[in-house]
Amino acid sequence: MTTTTTTLRDEQQLRALAAAGAAHLHAELDAEGRVPAEGEASPAEAIRWVAENFDLRKVAVACSMADAVLPALVAEQLPGVDVLFLETGYHFPETLGTRDAVAHVLDINVVDVLPELTVAEQDAQIGKDLFATDPTRCCAIRKMDPLKKSLEGYEVWFTGVRRDESWTRTNAPMVTFDETHKLIKVNPMVRWTLDELLEYSESHGLPVNPLMSEGYLSIGCAPCTRPVAPGEDPRAGRWAGKNKIECGIHL
Ligand code: SF4
Repeated sequence: MTTTTTTLRDEQQLRALAAAGAAHLHAELDAEGRVPAEGEASPAEAIRWVAENFDLRKVAVACSMADAVLPALVAEQLPGVDVLFLETGYHFPETLGTRDAVAHVLDINVVDVLPELTVAEQDAQIGKDLFATDPTRCCAIRKMDPLKKSLEGYEVWFTGVRRDESWTRTNAPMVTFDETHKLIKVNPMVRWTLDELLEYSESHGLPVNPLMSEGYLSIGCAPCTRPVAPGEDPRAGRWAGKNKIECGIHL
């Protein structure tokens, strides 16, 4: 049954609910933090669990606008759901175009999550092209801090994390309590491969970022994203040449 309370559950309640959700979806990690070899729920089942246990207004979906599969899957069961897009000010025009197309065709509410400083203000106050000199700080200012603030209004968020994206994600859980942001995190497509994702997108006629067909298999800010070569991890093109593979959001 969907909850209708206006206040957010507290941390203890959310931790208990995350554990119950993992058990319900057969997605509990073992004692070493390894994911189940088999038996985890499908993406639709994971989303159904959220739809049955949370009020729509307490649910958010994160989307980088590389594709529209996650918001499409969630909107099937939670029409009108908030979809958070981290508008860093550094996106490719193709990504912004995909955001607009996704907002147009899906029954969702796209929310641009903005940093406190514009790019021009950041250049003036901190230094030009911070992404080149200190990408960790740049990500903190333009992604981490705004997202953390935005997620304070929700009890659960969906992300598109998949285990095949990089070695940093091979043990990503389907449902967990997110220690960074202090709410429940659900990764419905965590078991899917990139090919499964693309097949779903194509068979459902969903908008897709045109850069995907140019080898950009994981798309972030323009200065920090390059296409990947055949056989490389999808995320190998993020912060290439730097000792960084995650912005910190999914640690
Ligand atoms: S991905 Fe690059 S440009 Fe975007 S916030 Fe991080 S460092 Fe800055």
